[in-house]
Amino acid sequence: MRRNRNVKVLATLGPASSSEEKIRQLFEAGADAFRLNMSHGAHDDVRAMYERIRKVEADLGRPIAVLVDLQGPKLRVGKVAPGTELENGQPFRLNLSHGTGDASAVELPHREIFDVIEPGHTLLLDDGKLRLEVTKTGDDFAETRVVVGGPLTSNKGVNVPDAILPVPALSPKDRRDLDFALSMDVDWVALSFVQRSADVAETKKIVAGRAFVMAKIEKPRALDHLDEIIEVADGLMVARGDLGVELPVEHVPAIQKSITRAGRRAGKPVVVATQMLESMIEAPVPTRAEVSDVATAVFDGADAVMLSGESAVGDYPVEAVAMMDRVAQSVEHDEQFRTALDAGRIEPETTTADAITLAARQVAETLNAAAIVCYTASGSTGLRASRERPDVPILVLTPVAQTARRLALAWGVHCVQTEDASSFLDMVIRASRVAEREEFAVTGDRLVITAGVPFGTPGRTNVLRIATVGTERPGAQE
Ligand code: PEP
Repeated sequence: MRRNRNVKVLATLGPASSSEEKIRQLFEAGADAFRLNMSHGAHDDVRAMYERIRKVEADLGRPIAVLVDLQGPKLRVGKVAPGTELENGQPFRLNLSHGTGDASAVELPHREIFDVIEPGHTLLLDDGKLRLEVTKTGDDFAETRVVVGGPLTSNKGVNVPDAILPVPALSPKDRRDLDFALSMDVDWVALSFVQRSADVAETKKIVAGRAFVMAKIEKPRALDHLDEIIEVADGLMVARGDLGVELPVEHVPAIQKSITRAGRRAGKPVVVATQMLESMIEAPVPTRAEVSDVATAVFDGADAVMLSGESAVGDYPVEAVAMMDRVAQSVEHDEQFRTALDAGRIEPETTTADAITLAARQVAETLNAAAIVCYTASGSTGLRASRERPDVPILVLTPVAQTARRLALAWGVHCVQTEDASSFLDMVIRASRVAEREEFAVTGDRLVITAGVPFGTPGRTNVLRIATVGTERPGAQE
């Protein structure tokens, strides 16, 4: 089964979509990868979903990426009396320790916040619905003025956009969830509330190559350190939900474009996430604005677009995936799509892999080849080929199942697990056979093949070969 588009669809699983039947329907409707959100669901439930994904993968014979999204440090206020309402302009105090809160004060049991906030900083409560300006701070308290008031209920989340919080990248719950995720052999781990590159580095150290690590960009401080974060991470998520809480929501579209561009420059997959088809949680058709939002991400060359509540808890999970698929196809078939991608073309780096993948794109486009075929064990050449955003499909052939799964999130890449080539002849015959079987080519079509010689040596892409499907036969002279 091949997709008729380059951008990938990442669908979050949840109560509305956790059965094997639904997962199969989501895949068939267009989901290339599934997100398991550790903010919800017990380990047993998550494991059951993971196993069902792998069952569908085995039945359908296509690699599927599984991304586990770690919750990250969640900061919350304490208990609040029913009916509490904060009034604009009124003073409001946060205490490290406090009984039941009311309109004058509440408990904030996080010393790390008091350690870093300063007068003039903003504190946001309840996903940014309430806004406080800090006027005075101490070791165990902060005095604030209510800038935007409203009802406050117990245990609401707190965002601290103006300071780097001295909290570990991984909470104790995240560490447990990460161990659990790695025990399941997931393909991607997403790290929430990344503030600095060290957060990603710490996670990568624990992961030790067993999965790719995606940095969720949702804090203003992460934007200040974006280049270093990209350097360390394997991929990025534009986590627009929390970004729009921590920053004025009108800043999010430009930030989305910068992150998408930065990820593309680095050749690391970028996922655009949150509220893409939000109204489809309850309605079978999206708003025109939502369709336009998905289209913008596709025009910008994002690697993947994500569904959250739409596929996890909505009434129309399959319809939401199908809608993303249709929007993506429609955009990618419009001539303005190629113009937009080419306008954002990125210079190659001075490496052999980039020289080969740039050449592969140019040769493939010049010859109107049916596909670029990349032999790769680690997936790195596949990602560099994807970075080129070629006008022809990329077939990634890899002997490593996890590489095929990880790259299911990368733009324009169709992965197939197969043995490594053993000779030039085998390289061509194998590429031709897979290209025909996967419906990318027919006899007489040309393929542009990249590989590393000596064959079977990872990290050594150094060959570009043009082949015509059906012209080389087993046993022919090399
Ligand atoms: C987001 O904030 O946009 C996001 C994807 O993170 P989460 O859904 O985990 O809050």
